[in-house]
Amino acid sequence: MSSAFVPIGHEPAEAQSRSLLAPVGLSKNQLFLSAPIPIMIEDWSRVYSSILDLRKSGVIDIDAWLDAHPDAIEELRALHSFVDANDAVIELFEAGTKAAFFDRARQLLPADRTSNVAVYRAMLEGHNACQSERTLVTFSGKKVPIVWRCALPDYVDGYRHLCFYAFDVTEQREYNDRMQTMRAEMARSARVSLFGEVAASILHEISQPLSATRISADAALRCLENDVPKIDEAVESVRDAARWARDATEICRRMRGFLGKVPVHSVLTSAEDTIDSALFLISPEASSRGINIERNVDTGLSVFADPVQIQQVLANMLLNGIYAIDSNDGAQRNLSISAKRVDTGEVLFEVKDTGVGMDAHILESLFQPFFTTKANGMGMGLVVARSIIESHGGKIWVESTPQVGTCFSFTLPVSDNQ
Ligand code: ADP
Repeated sequence: MSSAFVPIGHEPAEAQSRSLLAPVGLSKNQLFLSAPIPIMIEDWSRVYSSILDLRKSGVIDIDAWLDAHPDAIEELRALHSFVDANDAVIELFEAGTKAAFFDRARQLLPADRTSNVAVYRAMLEGHNACQSERTLVTFSGKKVPIVWRCALPDYVDGYRHLCFYAFDVTEQREYNDRMQTMRAEMARSARVSLFGEVAASILHEISQPLSATRISADAALRCLENDVPKIDEAVESVRDAARWARDATEICRRMRGFLGKVPVHSVLTSAEDTIDSALFLISPEASSRGINIERNVDTGLSVFADPVQIQQVLANMLLNGIYAIDSNDGAQRNLSISAKRVDTGEVLFEVKDTGVGMDAHILESLFQPFFTTKANGMGMGLVVARSIIESHGGKIWVESTPQVGTCFSFTLPVSDNQ
C-alpha cells in the first residue's frame, strides 16, 4: 500500500478549484482548511472496489464475514490512505503541524473494527452516508471520544476523496458518565429504601408470632406450676409455642433472602474488568471532589463470581471511601483499589482510603443492618456486601485508624482455570 498522500494544499495551484458557493476571494481549499469542524479527506477507492468484489461473491453480512476472516480488517486498512486534514484536525490531535500529523497518521488512526465496519457495511448495502464513533489518542496522550460522519458516493472515483467530519463528544460523554453514576446511586438508594419498607412490614409481621409464642409458653408454665400439673394442656401449649416460633423463623428466613441473598450467577470473571466497571461508575464522583484514584490489579486475574454483584460491592466500598475522604481534613485525598492472588489460592480485593477512619465503637456495628453515620445513609451497603461475599464463599473484613484511613478487604475463590 502506498502511504503517500497528496495534501490538498500541496496540489498544483490550478488543481485547486474555486467553489461557486465560496465567497469571492475564498477558495474551496481555504474553506476546507479553516472549517471549524475537523475534516479528514481519505482515499477509500481501493477498499470500495474490494467491498464491491465481496458483494459480487455473495457476501451480505459483513460482520459474519469479518468474524470468519479476522485478518481482513488490517488487509482492508492497508488499501486505504489519508489525503488531507484541515487545521481543526491538527488542533484536535495537538499535532502542531500538518507534516507532524501525517508522519504519525497511520499510528494515530489505526484500523478500528467498530469504526471501519460502519463504512464497509454502508458500502456493501449501498447507503449514501455512514457514521460511527471511536476514541482518538492525541499527541499528548489525551483520549478524545469522537463521533464521525461521512457521505458516500455511488461511483469508485468519488471514494478517492471521502470527507470524514469529526465531532468531539467529550462533554457529552462526561455528562453521560455523570448521569450513569446518578442512576447507579438512585438504583442503590431505591433498593436500600425498599429494604427499609420491607423491614418495617416484616417487623410488624414478626411481632405477632413472637407474642403468640410468649403467650403459649406462659400458658404452658402456668399448667405445669398448678398444684396438680395439667400435663396434657401444657404439652398442647408448648406445641402451639413451637408452631408460632417456626412461623417467626420462616419470616426471618424470607427477610434474609431478601437482604442480598439473591441467586449468585457465578461465571469466569476478569478481576480487572470488574474493577474497571466499578471505577467507571464512581470516577465522576471522585474527580469532582479532587480525589486521586490508584488502581493496582494483577493482569489476567480471574475469579469465579457474579460480576454484577461484585461490582456492586466494590462501587459501594469506593463510594464510602470517597465520602470518608471528603469528611477528613487531612491533606491526602487518595483512594486505591487492588486485586492480587494470595497464598490461600484466593483473590484478595482491597479498597483503601485516606478518610476519617473509624473508632472501635463504629467498627463493632459496621455490618449491622441500618447502621449509618450519614445524614442520608441507610446503613445497608455493607450488610449487602457481606451477604454477597459470603454467598460467594469469600470473607470480608475491615481495618481502620481514626483520622488516618480505612481498608476494606474481601476474598473470592479463584477461577478453576488458573
Ligand atoms: P451507608 O453508606 O448508607 O451509611 P454502609 O453500610 O455502606 O451504609 O456504611 C455504614 C457506615 O459505615 C457508614 O455510614 C460509615 O459510618 C461507615 N463507613 C463505611 N465505610 C467507611 C469508610 N471507608 N470510612 C469511614 N467510615 C465508613
